Amino acid sequence: MDEKDLGSDLAKVLIPEDRLQAKVRELAAQIDADYAGKDLLLVGVLKGAAMVMADLARALHSPARMDWMAVSSYGSGTKSSGVVRILKDLDTDISGRNVLIVEDIIDSGLTLSWLASNLRSRGPASLEICALLRKPEAVRTEIDCRYLGFDIPNEFVVGYGLDYDEKYRNLPFVGTLAPHVYGGTAG
Ligand code: 5GP
Ligand code: MG
Ligand code: MG
Repeated sequence: MDEKDLGSDLAKVLIPEDRLQAKVRELAAQIDADYAGKDLLLVGVLKGAAMVMADLARALHSPARMDWMAVSSYGSGTKSSGVVRILKDLDTDISGRNVLIVEDIIDSGLTLSWLASNLRSRGPASLEICALLRKPEAVRTEIDCRYLGFDIPNEFVVGYGLDYDEKYRNLPFVGTLAPHVYGGTAG
């Protein structure tokens, strides 16, 4: 799929496919070095992290385990409230394991900070965070993101796992939508 297939839905490509892939390989090399000789469990947060998880896992040289969680934030509107519900829990007991959470994007950071403390309470040997994207508002949270792909402007982005109304996840790049797609108001 490329830009042409989106017609007028797409406003612009923010991060093209080759930059995403290069960054994911860079992060994988850091993770390989940091976890050399250790068991690593990747925890992907559904559904947004599906693409970065799949590419990151394949770029690793070490045989990492993979598991998935799905969470949803309570709250009305588009802002997460920080009150989180687990829709799908891990299959794995993470006590004593080296856990790396793989996320698509940190916006307010509320979801991820809830998730990190939830997983920390299960007694992992270590817990770190890898996020592909981070928005400016995230600086207000205490989240320690060890592996970060890109800091991006405060715009609503889609593609490479990220959706609008469950669409556009399968774009191989990250882009912004034309205002007419989401009703003409920013957010
Ligand atoms: P937070 O709790 O950090 O505010 O919310 C993070 C979640 O909101 C992300 O995991 C993602 O699902 C969603 N989100 C935040 N910003 C964007 C964005 O620009 N585009 C899309 N598609 N989802 C976003
Ligand atoms: Mg997410
Ligand atoms: Mg979404």
